[in-house]
Amino acid sequence: MTEAGIYVHIPFCLTRCGYCDFNAYAGMDHLMPRYLRSVLAEASLAAPAWAEERVISIFLGGGTPTTMAPADLRSLLVHIQDRFSVDPAAEITTEANPDTVDQASLEALLTAGFGRLSMGAQSFDLSVLRELERVHTPDSVRRAFGAARDAGYLNVNLDLIYGANGESVESWERTLWETIALSPEHISAYALTVEPATPLGRRIAAGQTPEPDPDLQADMFVVACELLRSAGYAHYEVSNWAKPGYECRHNLGYWERRPYLGLGAGAHSYRDNARWWNVRPPEEYMSTVERGELPIGGSESLEPQDAYLEEVFLRLRTLEGIPASWIDDDRALPFLASGLLEEDFGNLVPTERGMLLLNELVLALAGS
Ligand code: SF4
Repeated sequence: MTEAGIYVHIPFCLTRCGYCDFNAYAGMDHLMPRYLRSVLAEASLAAPAWAEERVISIFLGGGTPTTMAPADLRSLLVHIQDRFSVDPAAEITTEANPDTVDQASLEALLTAGFGRLSMGAQSFDLSVLRELERVHTPDSVRRAFGAARDAGYLNVNLDLIYGANGESVESWERTLWETIALSPEHISAYALTVEPATPLGRRIAAGQTPEPDPDLQADMFVVACELLRSAGYAHYEVSNWAKPGYECRHNLGYWERRPYLGLGAGAHSYRDNARWWNVRPPEEYMSTVERGELPIGGSESLEPQDAYLEEVFLRLRTLEGIPASWIDDDRALPFLASGLLEEDFGNLVPTERGMLLLNELVLALAGS
């Protein structure tokens, strides 16, 4: 059987963060029962076409899945386990916002089978959190993390964002030290990106907020690489670090181009060089499923050259890299000489400097 992942999109949030471009909504909690029924129905509709796949990871993302009651998330997981061939050792993750969990809810989630928790911390600098329009405080991250440990969680990720307006390298260093002090098993750190159709994008367009400075973000990336390495975290993907054995299997599946099924509004799926995605507005998603139809909003098949470029790009994001035999020597040698690539057991792997120039690197190596 082929290994696959399942992603479930839960679009509800406490409030809307100013930089967020995800399919997420605040003030729509009244839709939760109907949305849950729709996801269950979609899972039932989709399952027969995935009978040959062994599911090795399930990931609830959003949005903020933990705005829904643990009992609802449990029934969702049971429903999926009943309809798909879920490996007994599958990695099962839920994202969480610090203000939506406490020890009791986390105990219930752990008992239900959500063995991995991914928490949006973003920063331990209150002014950065305010700039990002996050509702939580550094204290609520510490509290929620402690509650996760008290509940028995042994596999926790903290998400961080760097490069918000006003954040200095020193502030970012303090955030990294605070994160390291908590000793999560996994850390994701992303440079803040600006999407035009967000409040932050509009403030920048109106000249009210400066754009993130790419040079400063590059400096912050280098600081993250140094501090997290010194704290024992392996840098296994451009934006992801883990203690040995705690790499996220689900996200590795995206980079390794493992098939995945997306359930929920706007969720994307991939299999055999074909991608398809669900309709994005929750109302349209729910009414389509209620008619007994799969809520597919669009699809595309990758041409061989595009599939190859995508594979090179995704694999070069990870420590695994690509087989050296895929690339002509005369293309690879200049990057090996300049220290953007290195060779590791017959694979070409980007150095941390190379990760900063990944797009250019991929086009130079594999572009036509
Ligand atoms: S909590 Fe996450 S998904 Fe929700 S609005 Fe904020 S960034 Fe977006």
